[in-house]
Amino acid sequence: MNIHEYQAKEVLKKFGAPISPGKIAFTAEQAEAGAQELGGSVWVVKAQIHAGGRGKAGGVILCKTVNDVKAAAQKLLGTTLVTHQTGPKGQVVRKVYVESGCNIDRELYISLVLDRNSGRVAVIASQAGGMDIEEVAAKTPEKIVQFSFDPSTGYMPYHGRKLAYALGLDGEAHKQMIKLTESLVKCYIDLDCNQIEINPLVVTKEGGLVVLDAKVSFDDNALFRHPEIEQLRDLDEEDPAEIEAHKHELNYVKLDGSIGCMVNGAGLAMATMDIIKLHGGEPANFLDVGGGATKERVSEAFKIILADKNVKAVLVNIFGGIMRCDVIAEGIVAAAKDIQLKVPMVVRLQGTNMEQGRKILNDSGLKIISEGDLTQAAAKVVAATKEAA
Ligand code: ADP
Ligand code: MG
Repeated sequence: MNIHEYQAKEVLKKFGAPISPGKIAFTAEQAEAGAQELGGSVWVVKAQIHAGGRGKAGGVILCKTVNDVKAAAQKLLGTTLVTHQTGPKGQVVRKVYVESGCNIDRELYISLVLDRNSGRVAVIASQAGGMDIEEVAAKTPEKIVQFSFDPSTGYMPYHGRKLAYALGLDGEAHKQMIKLTESLVKCYIDLDCNQIEINPLVVTKEGGLVVLDAKVSFDDNALFRHPEIEQLRDLDEEDPAEIEAHKHELNYVKLDGSIGCMVNGAGLAMATMDIIKLHGGEPANFLDVGGGATKERVSEAFKIILADKNVKAVLVNIFGGIMRCDVIAEGIVAAAKDIQLKVPMVVRLQGTNMEQGRKILNDSGLKIISEGDLTQAAAKVVAATKEAA
């Protein structure tokens, strides 16, 4: 689960990270009042969307007067911001964050992620932080340092010193970095984070550190342990179909292609997407209905797939192990009748009760292409989308 920058900053502040004062605003008037409350003479108005790259896309506006703050908020609110992280459709700006302007000397990069190879929390840092970090990583990877934490000992003060040294910090900033590293590791572990990214972490002209941008995401599987974090969820930022799928405990990710996929098991779902691509098609989604899906869940999954206007054909690929093929078939028939299936559907059923499953489909009167072999099934569904086009 992702949260907004302003929420991430509140979370990090509780762990002792240095944050600039700021106010959230849903209207231009609130932004103006926020700037007045903050005081000072420079503010930054920042679009709050679940994506980075806002600076380069005009989503971060520096203001010298309270009136400018109001105008900047007016400009951003309600617009669709397209950044290199939003995809071409962009994301609607529904709120802005008004933050006190910061006197930047240097911009650094630091992030904590789970390194799945070592099974450890890893820190990635660079002196060359800021809006071009992707380019730094691509062209001058030697400017990036990385190390991980041993889970049995966790954070040790030398980690903080190592990082402060790597980032070229001295004096007060060096001391602050040691404290900040400890805070970040504690936040990461305590809240079951997936990622904490601070870009930029700023060294101010006054010589202190400030977390100027923050991206924090959490492990969905651990959210039940953090109800206060789950409250930070912003459904406006999520795909409606994915929210619906979540309600029915379906693992669904919307993609840009035209072949809807209904599969049981994440591994089989990946393999199915691969084989579709191999045959020149593009999957419209990833969908894992799970091992123990009910007829209702299959039916909901089917409705979610078909609600996607891009879907020109559907491939159902089920291996009945725990899941029985007849249950899947009943779900498909129920849903297809409910929403009047208009696109071609190829079904591959294998495993437990596959004969009963195929019989249910054949007797349903629905136009279904039944296929036992996965390669053939993929070829047929790709051919069906090409015909439809
Ligand atoms: P994004 O990563 O989405 O582009 P950031 O929050 O990193 O958004 O902002 C982009 C840039 O804007 C930063 O690298 C920094 O130079 C500048 N900036 C952001 N917040 C402030 C602030 N409070 N004061 C001064 N400059 C800021
Ligand atoms: Mg940033």
